[in-house]
Amino acid sequence: MFRNLKAIGRILYGRNSFDQLDDVLGELRIEKDSYVLFLVDEYFEGKDFMKRIPVHPHDILKIIDITEEPKTKTVDAIVAEVKSLSANLPVSVVGIGGGSVMDYAKAIRLMFTNEGSSSLYQGLDLIKNKGVHCTVIPTISGTGAEVSMTTVLTGPVKKLGIKGNFTPADQLVIDPELITSVPEPQRFYTAMDCYIHNIEAANGFRKTVMGDALGAESLRLCRDIYLSNDSRSPVNEEKLMIASYLGGLSLTYSEVGACHAISYGLATVTGIHHGVGNCVVFNQLEEFYPEGVKEFKEMMRVNNIAIPQGVTANCSPEEIDKMIDVTLTLVFMWQHVCGPEWEKIITRDKLRGLLMKM
Ligand code: NAD
Ligand code: ZN
Repeated sequence: MFRNLKAIGRILYGRNSFDQLDDVLGELRIEKDSYVLFLVDEYFEGKDFMKRIPVHPHDILKIIDITEEPKTKTVDAIVAEVKSLSANLPVSVVGIGGGSVMDYAKAIRLMFTNEGSSSLYQGLDLIKNKGVHCTVIPTISGTGAEVSMTTVLTGPVKKLGIKGNFTPADQLVIDPELITSVPEPQRFYTAMDCYIHNIEAANGFRKTVMGDALGAESLRLCRDIYLSNDSRSPVNEEKLMIASYLGGLSLTYSEVGACHAISYGLATVTGIHHGVGNCVVFNQLEEFYPEGVKEFKEMMRVNNIAIPQGVTANCSPEEIDKMIDVTLTLVFMWQHVCGPEWEKIITRDKLRGLLMKM
């Protein structure tokens, strides 16, 4: 059975295209009491950028705390709060920020039209009803969340995406000017999420010609940016946004692999954020991706980036076991990496050995 996959609806693209957002949302503001729900990354609070957000009198704007990665309970709380403020649904939920805020926007828009807690829908194709319109505007690039068909949430039991054809946003705004303020090493960590997506997608049993074509171009752009001595030039900022977009699309037609499977386990126990967690894990995966890890190390060297060491040094044997438990639940990732016989290769001892090196 082939999946009839859905990607993003419309794309507004170009430097300073953000200033056209009012026109884009204007097409949706049909009724007199229409309103937009804006979710904005906390980095922008108090910055001049806030004045450029086209907030109308009925609109609601919430600053999103992303100290921790997106939680189902925060999704549920924001939906309940907005419902208590207005009898109508917003005409668009607009997420302005990185993977975290975009994932919040993608989840919140679904929970306006689906009953109960968002934790009930963590998994594949569990959402019953189409959500309200959703606009995503990346301000840091690499995750591909701007185009992907998943929104990654941590619930009471698991960290798992709400994944399916209802999840991709309807409108994307790609404005390279918005990512210029991202500091290092955060920019590198999130950008490497894209690089790692491409390496993982291309090296596995579930790769497809469609995924490969998109991922190969994304990879070429990552190399242009990070093997140059000028990764932060305006043209490279723009390339990074497109690399992230193509990398996210590529995953729709392939799968992530060993790094993401282990990094999800590591994050469950340590709370390490996705971008940096992936770098910590990928750095130890020569066995799976020899060429990719070699090139990743070269990118770190050229860009003078160091990644955290000793992340698991203070973890108890029980905590390491918990990381392994979570990692082993990601069966589809391991099938992509090693094929149907993956359980013979990915043993608990192998995972323990890798985790202890991180
Ligand atoms: P993020 O959204 O967590 O943000 C990282 C940091 O960058 C934050 O401190 C934020 O305030 C800051 N920041 C954002 N924009 C900035 C700007 N313009 N200037 C200065 N600082 C800025 O980082 P991320 O790596 O983009 O996203 C990680 C999240 O994305 C994780 O929760 C992960 O699970 C999720 N994710 C989702 C998908 C998907 O397909 N849905 C894919 C990969 C990762
Ligand atoms: Zn990722």
